[in-house]
Amino acid sequence: MNDACIFCRIVAGSIPATVVASNEQALAFKDLHPQAPVHVLVIPRRHVASLATADDPAELGAVMALAAQVARDAGLPASGYRVVTNIGNDGGQTVGHLHLHVLGGRAFSWPPG
Ligand code: AMP
Ligand code: ZN
Repeated sequence: MNDACIFCRIVAGSIPATVVASNEQALAFKDLHPQAPVHVLVIPRRHVASLATADDPAELGAVMALAAQVARDAGLPASGYRVVTNIGNDGGQTVGHLHLHVLGGRAFSWPPG
């Protein structure tokens, strides 16, 4: 637990979040500023700064599996959806705790901006 990290505080339950799913190693909750009809963040319970420093394949698997479960629970696979993780400044990362964005319910363009 990193006391300065907002997502660690969500894992600890000391700040509120709308949790939609979880497993032993990962937690999924609604993004505070949704960019699509479905916008859920999936994080490891353990503090990991980003994919760049992730070092536990089992933990990454748990995070990825939970993202797929969130999408299934929201009925997204039929129409398609997007899973994104931003890394560092150029990647547009604003919260320094690894998170997957699960985005769905509308069409997305490519390449991203
Ligand atoms: P990123 O820019 O990839 O680091 O994404 C960080 C995301 O976290 C943004 O989409 C924010 O809207 C979201 N966010 C920040 N604080 C919270 C919070 N307390 N609860 C839920 N989502 C949050
Ligand atoms: Zn953290």
